[in-house]
Amino acid sequence: MRNTIYHSYIELSKSALKHNINYLKTRIDRAKFCSVIKGNAYGHGIKYFVPLAEKCGIDMFAVYDASEAAEALKFKSDRSDLLILGFIDKDKLVWAIENNIAFSIYDLDRLKETITAARNIQKKARIHIELETGMNRTGIETDQLEDLVEIYIKNADHLDLEGLWTHYAGPESSANYFRVMQQYERFLELKDILRKKQMIPRYYHSACSAAALNYPQTIMDLVRIGIAQYGMWPNMETLIYNSVNNGDELRRKDQLRSILSWKTRIEGLKKVKMGNFIGYGNYYQASRDLTVAIIPVGYSHGFSRDLSNKAHVLVNRKKVGIIGIVNMNCSLIDVTDLKNVSNGDEVVIIGKQGNKRISFASFSEQNYGMNYELLTRLPDKIPRIITR
Ligand SMILES: *Cc1c(COP(=O)(O)O)cnc(C)c1O
Repeated sequence: MRNTIYHSYIELSKSALKHNINYLKTRIDRAKFCSVIKGNAYGHGIKYFVPLAEKCGIDMFAVYDASEAAEALKFKSDRSDLLILGFIDKDKLVWAIENNIAFSIYDLDRLKETITAARNIQKKARIHIELETGMNRTGIETDQLEDLVEIYIKNADHLDLEGLWTHYAGPESSANYFRVMQQYERFLELKDILRKKQMIPRYYHSACSAAALNYPQTIMDLVRIGIAQYGMWPNMETLIYNSVNNGDELRRKDQLRSILSWKTRIEGLKKVKMGNFIGYGNYYQASRDLTVAIIPVGYSHGFSRDLSNKAHVLVNRKKVGIIGIVNMNCSLIDVTDLKNVSNGDEVVIIGKQGNKRISFASFSEQNYGMNYELLTRLPDKIPRIITR
């Protein structure tokens, strides 16, 4: 599909998302599926992803902060729940409670402020209390538990304790096995201590994608699934571990499908004689007579300079290389070996063309990065198109 407003576009596949959610539901059993959409839905775009996910059966979303919550609020239906996992400013507490947004609490001051806000507007605050188990980032410390219980019990009328939760420090890698298991054990202990004090939430939760896939015991009542729902594995190790553990070859092939493709088109062709340099400086010299095509994608679009002379794209069902330095708004590709190449031909940066595919993971590797980071560099201004 051609887009006349912008020079490249991102397609989001509804069938791939549906497939991923169904597959993940088989792995998480009866646990509640909370779809993590921080970082603009991992670069997919909150405003496109949220309605799409709802159509695929999702009814709970988690964001990082109040500004992301405000964005999600605009695009979600009334039936879906919203949870802020990270920061919420003091002056946004009333707003969150009024809008029925659940939020995380990881220190006692914020708990007290929440109680004041809830009391002032006579509406219960929906809270998920984060417990420190060894990540050492956020979470209520063990020596604060007594105070926590006291404040909670005294003010339970103003609080709806929806969650008690923790987050693991790297369940995607077996190098962290010991630390993750210690956190898991610690969480179970804390859960017991608080249960005896009548702090019993609706959901205990601890698992992100990698924990749910690699440590099924961490699944509990709710899972916070980010990267896997978009069809990407948290890392190569998790892919390998899950392929081995689910032996069945056929299922293995199709466990997760990337929902995102990124496409553009050729916007100019040029013949360059052997010996000439291409683009800025002397990064690429033609070692034969070349046909060079320009594509309107550059580092301002998240196609970084690290890809200079290195990345590949698909044109006419063939893999062709980026040559020279990636520019701010455009890049050059070598199409000398293609037959019948012309202006307007589709160029696939990420995704499939014919039986060839460029995965997001390979794109990330060429950027010396990980999927998470590279995804969030895709600018919101690139149009998103929902496909079947
Ligand atoms: C981002 C995040 C998740 C989701 O992580 P994935 O690895 O993408 O599944 C879950 N929990 C918390 C607290 C997070 O910040």
